[in-house]
Amino acid sequence: MKIIEFDDKGQRVEREANMPDLSTRTSSLAPRPHPRSDSGSSSSRKRGNSSGIELHMFQTGTLRTKLKYIKMNQGEEDFEIPVPWFLIKHPAGNVVIDGGNAIEAAIDKRGHWGDVVDAYDPVMNVADNCADQCRSVGVDPQSVRYLLQSHLHLDHTGAIGHFPKAQIICQRAEYEYAFNPHWFSKGAYIRADFDRPGLNWKFLGGEYTDNYDLFGDGTIRMIFSPGHAPGHQSFLITLPRTGPVLLTIDAAYTMDHWENKALPGLVVSSADAANSVEKLRRIASDTNAMVVTGHDPVNWEVFRKSPNDFYD
Ligand SMILES: [Zn+2]
Repeated sequence: MKIIEFDDKGQRVEREANMPDLSTRTSSLAPRPHPRSDSGSSSSRKRGNSSGIELHMFQTGTLRTKLKYIKMNQGEEDFEIPVPWFLIKHPAGNVVIDGGNAIEAAIDKRGHWGDVVDAYDPVMNVADNCADQCRSVGVDPQSVRYLLQSHLHLDHTGAIGHFPKAQIICQRAEYEYAFNPHWFSKGAYIRADFDRPGLNWKFLGGEYTDNYDLFGDGTIRMIFSPGHAPGHQSFLITLPRTGPVLLTIDAAYTMDHWENKALPGLVVSSADAANSVEKLRRIASDTNAMVVTGHDPVNWEVFRKSPNDFYD
């Protein structure tokens, strides 16, 4: 895979991705073995036997919703989805991706989210907030260097303001849209979460900064994947031992979205959403990445680990 980056002078630089040997890996679209039943079981991946880079998968509870709000036009039945977020420990600094729901969703959900709780009802304990979950695996919120925002919907903004030294990296298009969304996506943006004083934002520029390589070592790449939201981005995490893990986030809520069987229930451009899935499928195929979708109860159960376990 070719990586396109920009140097300090803003010049475009192309280089070959430095991918691990994937010749023995199976197709990302084929059913994969249950990670927890691998020979390198979760216990052998606990602290003390780490490559120095760790991917932790967390969730801030679930959202009780209806199928149609996740899969466009697909019915009124109840559907409960996990709210994932991710922590990456890296020698160059700890990284949080998204942070799930804000703690207020556990304390006063209607007060903080408003009537959107009638469509997406958060089921969350106070202890599920991302700062406390970081502490539970020995990560002081002060030590988090970067907070990466896939987009700014309410179930992804729980970290903003809780990691005082973190630079927040977000697509500029998403940040601007969040202050002035269309009527149909207004309920998904909680301004109190992201419109706070003293935040250190850095903005990416869509296709011009695509494949942004956070540490320059290929561990964390940010992939522009608009459609569900105007400035949505997904993440390709490449771990020394586990290999590539593609976090689609909401570019593919579930495997049905990944397999072109459903559009998202909330979307700003169906064409962009379909193109983004196609782009991510190409990346997953090129890298043979493990694919973790945004809110799929089944897919998430397969890949999620207990808070003390991690990938790599
Ligand atoms: Zn979303």
